[in-house]
Formats: sequence, C-alpha cells, structure tokens
Amino acid sequence: MPNIVVVGAGVSGLTCALLLSKQKGNNVTVVAKHMPGDYDIGYTSPWAGANMLPMALDRDSRWERRTWPELRRLADEVPEAGLHFQTARVLRRVADVETATNAVRGALGDGGLFDLSPWYRTLMPDFRSLPPAELPAGMHSGCEFTSVCINTAVYLPWLVGQCARRGVRFRRAVLGHVSEAAGMSRHSTERADVVVNATGLLACRLGGVMDGKVYPARGQIVVVRNEADGIMSTTSGCEDGADEVVYVMQRALGGATVLGGTYQRGNWDPNPDPNVALRIMKRAVETHPALTDGKGVEALDIIRHGVGLRPAREGGVRIEKEMIDGTWVVHNYGHAGWGYQGSYGCAERVVELVEGIVGGTKRESKL
Ligand code: FAD
Repeated sequence: MPNIVVVGAGVSGLTCALLLSKQKGNNVTVVAKHMPGDYDIGYTSPWAGANMLPMALDRDSRWERRTWPELRRLADEVPEAGLHFQTARVLRRVADVETATNAVRGALGDGGLFDLSPWYRTLMPDFRSLPPAELPAGMHSGCEFTSVCINTAVYLPWLVGQCARRGVRFRRAVLGHVSEAAGMSRHSTERADVVVNATGLLACRLGGVMDGKVYPARGQIVVVRNEADGIMSTTSGCEDGADEVVYVMQRALGGATVLGGTYQRGNWDPNPDPNVALRIMKRAVETHPALTDGKGVEALDIIRHGVGLRPAREGGVRIEKEMIDGTWVVHNYGHAGWGYQGSYGCAERVVELVEGIVGGTKRESKL
C-alpha cells in the first residue's frame, strides 16, 4: 500500500492529507510541529480571516477555480465545517486605479483581485458591478459577489476529524531535514514512498528545501465581538501606507469579526503594533459604521490582537515533485494570502503528482 507522510498541519497539509486519504489504499500520516488548536507565529493558518476573494493573475489558473465549488458545497451542506455565505464587496479607489501601480496590484499580494474587469466575474455567483450611486466617496468602481467566510478555529479541527475518519494518523515532531519524514509513518516501519512538504513559510528553513524565494507577508489583525453587516468589504488601498490594507469579515458560528490589516513584505515581527492596530480599527469603523452603530473605535469590543505571516514566494506557489536524498518529495507551499481559497485545487494537483510516483508501481504490484 502506498505509504505517504505529509509534513504540515495547516490548511495546505490537512487538505492534501484528506484528498490523499480518499484515494483507495493510501496510508497517510501527518507530521507537524503545530496542529489545530495552537497559535504560533510559525503557523499561519489559524490567523487567516478567512474568506474567498479570488486573486489569481492567470484567468486559467486552476487553484481557486477548483476550490470554489468545494467551499460552496461546504457552506451549503456541511454547517459543522464552519463556513457561511457572505457578500464580498471589492472597492477600487480612484487614486489606485489612476496610478495602477500601488494597491490595485500590490494590496493582498500581486493578484488580480482589484482588476477592473476581473476574470472571476464568471466564477463567483451573483457577480455585479456596483453602480456609481452605491460607491462610497473616493471610490472609482467596485463589484460584489457571493463568497464564503471560514471560521478557521472550527474548520481546521473539522479537517483533522475528516482525515481521522479516513484512517489518517497524526504525529507531533519538528523536522530538521525534509527526508527525516520518510521514517515517520505511523502505518509502517518501512520508509514512506512519498513525502508531501506543506511547511508554509518555514519551507525557507527546512533542511533539504531551504527555499530562499519564500518570505513573510505580515498580516496584523484585530478580532472583535462586534458584528458586521453581512458584507465582507475590501479596498484597494488606504491613506495609511502602501503596506496597509482594509478588510472586514465576520466568521461563521460565532467566530467573531476580523478587522484587517497589513501586507508587510519581509517583516517577521510577531508582535502587534498598537499604532497599526488603532489605524486598522479606525478604518474598519469608517468603512463599516454598523460595527459600532456609528459610535466609533471606542465601541469596539476587542477579543484579541493578532499577527500572522503569510507564506509568500517570489515566482508564486511551488507545487512540484523533487527527489531529495533518495526520497520523493512533493512540495506544496508558498500560498501567500490565498491558502484557503486555493486549498482544494492545490491538493488535487498534489494527489496527481503522488499518483504519478506511486500509482503505477505500488498499486500494480498488489494486483
Ligand atoms: P501553515 O498554516 O503555516 O502550516 C505549516 C505547517 O507546517 C504547520 O503545521 C507547521 O507546524 C509545519 N511545519 C513547518 N516547519 C516544520 C518542521 N520543520 N517540522 C515539522 N513541522 C513543520 N488565505 C485565504 O485563502 N483567505 C483569506 O482570507 C486569508 N486571510 C489571511 C489573513 C491573514 C492575517 C493571514 C496571516 C493569512 C491569510 N490567508 C488567507 C493566507 C493563509 O492563511 C495561508 O496561505 C495558509 O494558512 C498557509 O497554510 P499552510 O498550510 O501552507 O501553512
């Protein structure tokens, strides 16, 4: 039976483990330093909002296209997964459209979210361009569509449960070198046939990988009890600097409201900056007065301040196979600010690559 070890228990590793476990005959073990329930600066997934605001630049990119139907199904049919439908509103400032260099391309990564005629208009349901009468002051244009917001504190443990139901085993360990994972299966004493590397940002420090193209895009957030108005809005930029962004989203199942944020490239600082936090809160109550019934920042009921480091990568995500010290490794890291909204599309590609390695050999020999 194919013996597979997935390194990493963020949204990337867990989604890979889930899809691999659905392939008949696979034995899957997840090995990770951090698991759902932990909050750590080296573990990005719990800090995400998270919602689906498509960012791919390439309109034919499969990552988000293939993920959306599954996120939609979960929101529709699986309430215990912790997703719910919300209206996404994307606003482009006059200043950003005119320069076309700043936030329209820069905010939330180098993606196509703020394009004037976005490719995702045919993907996301209920897409409509906003008429001028509905635009806030200073906005050039905008659009709305139906999306989802994911309560990551519910969704990540739900993924663990789905994996466990399909026989995936879990193990805590800190790896110095990716090839160590091959000897860590919980199913067999034999070396694993394939190791899946889903170590996120720390792929830049993992022996055998040490990817120098990976860097943090620091996201600071404020989590509040106040409720938003069912609209998840995001703006192409703000007056507070090119690395500050504006978004608000309310998580499903009482998961609170996340106010963001920042997109600070190369910044590893794990500590929330109080001045940045104040600016985030001011912007949130300006764009969403319903949060505090127009009473301003003082009426925000803060649960916590947080910082997560998005695993960005020059040249984009890395999904490919590589032989390292005699072990086949399939990489899946570098998802920057779209790890949830691309999770199923990327994991499907990982399954294809793993199948290409073990499919023709191990399975045939069992017949
Ligand atoms: P991680 O979640 O970091 O997981 C890495 C795993 O590898 C962990 O289990 C870790 O312990 C393990 N690991 C690493 N090194 C080792 C080692 N040496 N030995 C053993 N284990 C190791 N995405 C969206 O799609 N939508 C959003 O709205 C969104 N909003 C975001 C908002 C913020 C503020 C932030 C910070 C991110 C946001 N993201 C969003 C991005 C998303 O969170 C990331 O792309 C995603 O979480 C990356 O997941 P991952 O599994 O690749 O990495």
